[in-house]
Amino acid sequence: MTAQLIDGKQIATQIRTALKQQIAHLSQVPHLAIVLVGNDDSSLIYVHNKQKAAAEIGLKTTLFHLPENTSESELLDLIECSNQDTSINGIIVQLPLPSHLNTHRVINSISPLKDVDGFHPYNTGMLQNNEKPYFIAATPLGIMKLVQSVCPNLSGKNVVIIGASLIVGRPLATLMLNQECTVTITHIHTKNIKELTRKADILVAACGVAKLVNADWIKPDSILIDVGINRENGKICGDIDFADVVAKAAAITPVPGGVGPMTIAMLLQNTYNALLLQQQNL
Ligand code: NAD
Repeated sequence: MTAQLIDGKQIATQIRTALKQQIAHLSQVPHLAIVLVGNDDSSLIYVHNKQKAAAEIGLKTTLFHLPENTSESELLDLIECSNQDTSINGIIVQLPLPSHLNTHRVINSISPLKDVDGFHPYNTGMLQNNEKPYFIAATPLGIMKLVQSVCPNLSGKNVVIIGASLIVGRPLATLMLNQECTVTITHIHTKNIKELTRKADILVAACGVAKLVNADWIKPDSILIDVGINRENGKICGDIDFADVVAKAAAITPVPGGVGPMTIAMLLQNTYNALLLQQQNL
C-alpha cells in the first residue's frame, strides 16, 4: 500500500484560477504592498515568487525594497503611509527582518484590515478567541485546506505539530483546536517526541530539520503534512523522510508541491479578501 498524495500544487492552481476569474470581474484590482528590508537570498526568492504569482492572476504588487540599514522609524513611516493609502489593500513585511529592527513593533504597526499575513495581534487574538479574524496566516490556512481535502471532518482527531513558531505551529494549533481536534504542539525541548508523534492521526512537521520524521515516528494510516523546506545535496526536501513513510501513511504532502504552493495561493486569496473587506468598510 502506498499513501495518497495530497497535491498542493493542483489545489493551489484551482484556487488561483478561481481568483483570476473573480479579479477579472472587479472594478478595482487588488493591490499588495510588499516590504523587504535588506538582501537576504531566500527572502528575495520568496518575494519574487509572490510577485510572479500575483501578476499571473491580475493582482497588483508594489515592492518597497529598502536598504539593510533602514531605521525602524523609516520603516514605520513607510508602513503608516501604506496604511493610509487607499489604493493599497494588503501589506506584508517579508521576514526575517535585520536584527536591529523589532519585528513585533513593525508587524503591530500594520493596520489589521491590511494585515494579509495575519500576524497582527488583533488577527491572532481573534483566531485564539475562535472569533472571525480579518485574516489568517497563509501557511496554516493552506495546511487546513490540504488536510480537509482528505479528511473533511476533523472533530476529535489527534493532531501533533512539530514546531511552535508564530507563523506556522501556533496559529495552526489554534485552527485545529477550533475544528475540535485534540492538539499537541512539540518543539526542540519536547522530551520523548516520538511517543507523541506516534499517536497522531494528523502529523504536521514544521521544524526545518531535513527528514527528521521517519516511519518509526508515525502512526499507521495517519495523514502527514510536511511544511519543511530544506536543502540536502542541492535538492529541496522536507522535514519528513518521504520514501521511508510513504508505505505506512494514509496520505502525505510532497516537498516541493505540497504546502509551499498553498501558502502563496492563500496570500493571494487574503489580498483579494482585503479589497472586498475595505470596500465594505468605506
Ligand atoms: P522556526 O525556526 O521559526 O521554528 C522552528 C520550530 O521547530 C521551533 O518551534 C523549534 O523549537 C522546532 N524544532 C526545531 N528543531 C526541532 C527538532 N529537532 N525537534 C522538534 N522540534 C524542533 O521555523 P518556521 O518559520 O516555523 O519554519 C519551519 C520550517 O517550515 C522551515 O523549514 C521553513 O522553511 C518551512 N516553512 C515553509 C513554508 C511553506 O510555505 N512551505 C512556510 C513557512 C515555513
